[in-house]
Amino acid sequence: MENNKEMRTWLDDLNLDHPLVIAGPCSAETEEQVLKIAHELKDTDVSYFRAGIWKPRTRPGNFEGVGALGLKWLQKVKAETGMKVCTEVANAAHVKLALEHDIDMLWIGARSTVSPFIMQEIADALDGTDKPVLVKNPVNPDLSLWLGGIERIYSSGVKNIGAIHRGFSTYQKTKYRNIPEWQMAIEFQNKYPDIPLINDPSHITGNREMIFDVSQTALDLNFDGLMIETHYDPENAWSDAAQQVTPATLIQIMKDLKIRKESNEEEEYNSALNNLRAQIDVVDNQILGLLGQRMKNSDAIGKLKKQKNVAVLQSKRWNEILGKMVLEGEQHGLSEEFILKMFKAVHQESINHQEKVING
Ligand code: PEP
Ligand code: MN
Repeated sequence: MENNKEMRTWLDDLNLDHPLVIAGPCSAETEEQVLKIAHELKDTDVSYFRAGIWKPRTRPGNFEGVGALGLKWLQKVKAETGMKVCTEVANAAHVKLALEHDIDMLWIGARSTVSPFIMQEIADALDGTDKPVLVKNPVNPDLSLWLGGIERIYSSGVKNIGAIHRGFSTYQKTKYRNIPEWQMAIEFQNKYPDIPLINDPSHITGNREMIFDVSQTALDLNFDGLMIETHYDPENAWSDAAQQVTPATLIQIMKDLKIRKESNEEEEYNSALNNLRAQIDVVDNQILGLLGQRMKNSDAIGKLKKQKNVAVLQSKRWNEILGKMVLEGEQHGLSEEFILKMFKAVHQESINHQEKVING
């Protein structure tokens, strides 16, 4: 798939002077619920109203969506509020029904993006539609799987494409429902700068208290828009109750978010920025030099261990280093999360070096 500007046109054609906002409930529950929320979002910066009608639930028995009936409710939203509407599709039958009901935009959920078979089925059913199609990242942090899914949709002739970053599952419990792994989103933007990238803070956080901060981070990272689950009575929502915000809160969030420009032509700003970047380049080179030096020491230790037939991994020493570095890192304003990640990577590289010395 070539990078080309035509992938941006659906977004550029909206002529927004702010990031794209997609909002609406996790699930369409009743006709009244859908219409009430839609009317509260009318005449705001929300361009697309969302509602899931086929809900992929982790365990059977939870509310699995109202099904095709909900498409009629979305048509009513369009007629009564003028907002465009969108919903999730997860197989060929969903696509067919959504297109027949003139749903304006479709998205493919994280549980579908993981499956090349289902992505191909959806791509074939889309059959070159000019409706925008947004592909959520797969539940697991695998960039190629995400890109592969998008490529399948593109190859079937769909030109209006976008991507949604909704975070990734992990085994360990974190403050996020799905950890953002921002680096992955940055890599995505580098690979396909012309595909609009939307952030979904609702499924990343799983918690309405954190929606604003994650949204702001996304805008700071040049995301093109936000998809935020919105319900007039979040606590009693039939799905994802903890993460939905009220329309009033959404409007406040949109007002408080700082929209930063991607660049600025001012000379003073640019020379200050270039100066700081030059300093960063110098420091980055120093870091590389020091890491190289550290690995040379590791190689030497590897030789000693080989002579004495001692194991590469010395857990006690390693835990001591880690504990010390977390404390010292804090004094340099570095978070524990970063120190652990960085030193684990450094340690792994040391092990690889020593293994090579010992076995090579
Ligand atoms: C959703 O947007 O309601 C949804 C089910 O999201 P995800 O595919 O990101 O879990
Ligand atoms: Mn949801």
